[in-house]
Amino acid sequence: MTETTTTRLLIIGPPGAGKGTQAGKIAERYGVPAISTGDIFRANIKGGTELGKQVQAIIEQGELVPDSLTNDIVADRLTQADAASGFLLDGYPRTVDQVHALDGMLDGSSLDAVVLIEADVDEVVARLLKRAQVEGRADDTEEVIRHRQDVYAAQTAPLVELFSERGILLSVDGIGSVDAVAERIASGLDAQLGARVAS
Ligand code: ADP
Repeated sequence: MTETTTTRLLIIGPPGAGKGTQAGKIAERYGVPAISTGDIFRANIKGGTELGKQVQAIIEQGELVPDSLTNDIVADRLTQADAASGFLLDGYPRTVDQVHALDGMLDGSSLDAVVLIEADVDEVVARLLKRAQVEGRADDTEEVIRHRQDVYAAQTAPLVELFSERGILLSVDGIGSVDAVAERIASGLDAQLGARVAS
């Protein structure tokens, strides 16, 4: 008998906390695609698509892309075949309205776990300034980095409480080597998802 198990995960945390790096590792471990709204937007900007033109200035200023646009993109992405047995969302939802939109997309089912990577502002700003020299992302100037932190605090941090109330939050200390953080996430998630399966 084949049993279908879905694994629906979200990784959340301030810009510079290392979400993208850890997202790749988690996705591989649980055999689900990592879906990053930031990556989708950047690919569209690079490719010069209509969507890319719509979001480029917004992203370069460190503002959020309007919910309506972002929700549509994620809804579309989640209907693709590779997401049928689960996914790891990175960078979405980022506002309370996006949480409600995602609830609608999941149609009665919910996320299985939300990984919060915790790191203090000074640490993440320092990391992003370092990354700016390597990757040259247009939104990695000090002014925009600071603004992205403020946007996170105002719009996204409140989601942590919401997921905590839902009993699916896993908080992980994001300070340390990539492997050390990955290990913390893996052991926490194994325990959390295992407990869900067993109950
Ligand atoms: P970071 O982790 O540094 O914030 P991301 O790659 O997740 O980087 O996002 C980069 C930018 O893309 C954000 O600052 C925002 O402009 C846009 N973006 C990404 N995800 C969303 C979202 N869910 N809602 C609105 N805007 C988004």
